[in-house]
Amino acid sequence: MENNNPDSDFDRVLRPKSLEDFTGQKKIVENLQIFVQATKQRNEPLDHVLLHGPPGLGKTTLANIIANELEVGFKVTSGPVLDKPGDLAGLLTNLGEGDVLFIDEIHRLSPVIEEYLYSAMEDFVIDIMIDSGPNARTVQIALNPFTLIGATTRSGLLTAPLRARFGINARLQYYNAKTLTSIINRSSDLLDIPIQHDAAYEIASRSRGTPRIANALLRRVRDFAQIKGNGTINIEITNIALTALNVDQNGLDEMDNRLLTALIEKFSGGPVGITTLATAVGENAGTIEEVYEPFLIQEGFLVRTQRGRKVTTKAYEHLGKKPASSQGD
Ligand code: ADP
Repeated sequence: MENNNPDSDFDRVLRPKSLEDFTGQKKIVENLQIFVQATKQRNEPLDHVLLHGPPGLGKTTLANIIANELEVGFKVTSGPVLDKPGDLAGLLTNLGEGDVLFIDEIHRLSPVIEEYLYSAMEDFVIDIMIDSGPNARTVQIALNPFTLIGATTRSGLLTAPLRARFGINARLQYYNAKTLTSIINRSSDLLDIPIQHDAAYEIASRSRGTPRIANALLRRVRDFAQIKGNGTINIEITNIALTALNVDQNGLDEMDNRLLTALIEKFSGGPVGITTLATAVGENAGTIEEVYEPFLIQEGFLVRTQRGRKVTTKAYEHLGKKPASSQGD
């Protein structure tokens, strides 16, 4: 392949290839190790797996790893891409015995496709309609037993019947700074980037608990170290770079801060509905719910109430603003 997308080249190098190489999410990894070993011993396909959690926490990576560990083939698609039953049928009938089919954004499957998946997941068969008009009839096609791995950032949007068909359910959590420091050190080793420990920890604590962001910041900080320093990533360069990249001391990025500021300045701290808030900051409501809000809630800057989103005292303090007397939390 041509080297025309450096980010995806980095990705190939940095993606862990085995469960042992996967840092963090200890409980999930331990359980998967058992499930994989047990199914291999029994010579059966692994039960279907549903991975949920915000973007960049390692769902795709884990799906790849599971296929590697099972020593089976790996096919990838995504909810929005699969719009015709024929596309799904094509994918399913081409799966080898025990292969993994990974469907990203599985909450975005169309209802028709979802119906097809039910029998495929449960009995490894699909019913295909052939011909039309008076000759129309369905034929049943047997599939090789396979494992479906679904990934979703919005598990709440999955229908109950689909959710019920996954035997293994894993919710990925944001990573703590210590674990992200290990990930950054591992990436620096792989990319041959000299980095000091306190600098790695600083990047880790400002990466929104997300390995994808940690790796991206590492690469950007490396640029600063190369141009403004001597090539080694130290704490001074890290602080300069992260400030230039609008990543603040708490690791909140520009959009995080815009959300909190809008809540405080335009809506007296809330509560305000997600759609109104989305319009105020010019971002898609779904993205706010999937990407920004979970981290702001976890870090205690935002709460979700019956009447909408509301900032906390921590958010006022973070932005150096005073709560209006009757508001606060
Ligand atoms: P998701 O599918 O959840 O959006 P990905 O699996 O694409 O996330 O992960 C994003 C990037 O973060 C990957 O390129 C991978 O290199 C890195 N990554 C994710 N989880 C880990 C981990 N536990 N250890 C090391 N790197 C990780």
